[in-house]
Amino acid sequence: MSNLKLCQGPDCHTYYTQDRLKGIKGSKTNQTRRRSNFYYGNGNFCSTRCQDDWFIDFGDKAINHFGRLTEAKHLTEQNAWVKQYDWDSSYQNRTYVIRNAITREQRPITEQQYNDNNYTLNTWPRNMDSVG
Ligand SMILES: [Zn+2]
Repeated sequence: MSNLKLCQGPDCHTYYTQDRLKGIKGSKTNQTRRRSNFYYGNGNFCSTRCQDDWFIDFGDKAINHFGRLTEAKHLTEQNAWVKQYDWDSSYQNRTYVIRNAITREQRPITEQQYNDNNYTLNTWPRNMDSVG
């Protein structure tokens, strides 16, 4: 068939919208949404409602399966450096800095250092997806 993806919301088919109503007259059914792309939940859900429905049904199982956090994580001075930039008052020029989220220390960096994914003051790895 097609490359369309199905919304993974367990109750997607129960929400009434015109686009979910499919089939020929006399045998129409309300169906789970199908699209080439979805914008919610890593492209798995047609809406935040469907994403929330999934989490209500499966969230606890998923967390337990992949590992429930049992102790608080700690962001320390050694891995709290984050690159940022500020605009000047006329929004013409950027000033690049690296800031420590724990100590609030701020140091100037160059645009090249800002754009260099290997440049960091962190002394051990942290998740890169929180940078920015
Ligand atoms: Zn849905």
